Amino acid sequence: MTDCLFCKIIAGEVPSTKVYENDKVYAFRDIAPQAPEHVVIVPKTHIACANEITAENSRAVADVFEAIPIIAKEVGVDKTGYRIVNNCGADAGQTVLHLHFHLLGGTVGGKMY
Ligand code: 5GP
Ligand code: ZN
Repeated sequence: MTDCLFCKIIAGEVPSTKVYENDKVYAFRDIAPQAPEHVVIVPKTHIACANEITAENSRAVADVFEAIPIIAKEVGVDKTGYRIVNNCGADAGQTVLHLHFHLLGGTVGGKMY
């Protein structure tokens, strides 16, 4: 999608600090980190948000979650723990309409619920 910031980051048209990449998934440092380790993980296929996950495209979600243990180890939080966050829509504060998951680690924060 030409007008999507994260599609541009995946394509290398907008610079980012890459943490991990394979043929299905791209992970990069958040520009405004909310935790000592804050990585944004995106499927390379454009899905706007969780509302658009279907039986046809849900493999992209599995691809992200298969990458998470590798990324957690890469940034050194696999043993200490981390949180995975997805924001969908306005009330959740989603600002970029390309499905993404935040990996937040490095802070002892306890549970959010
Ligand atoms: P959302 O608020 O949609 O859940 O998450 C979008 C995230 O993308 C935010 O945490 C924001 O800081 C991050 N972000 C926005 N623009 C850029 C950018 O140009 N580069 C990087 N690395 N992160 C960005
Ligand atoms: Zn996109």
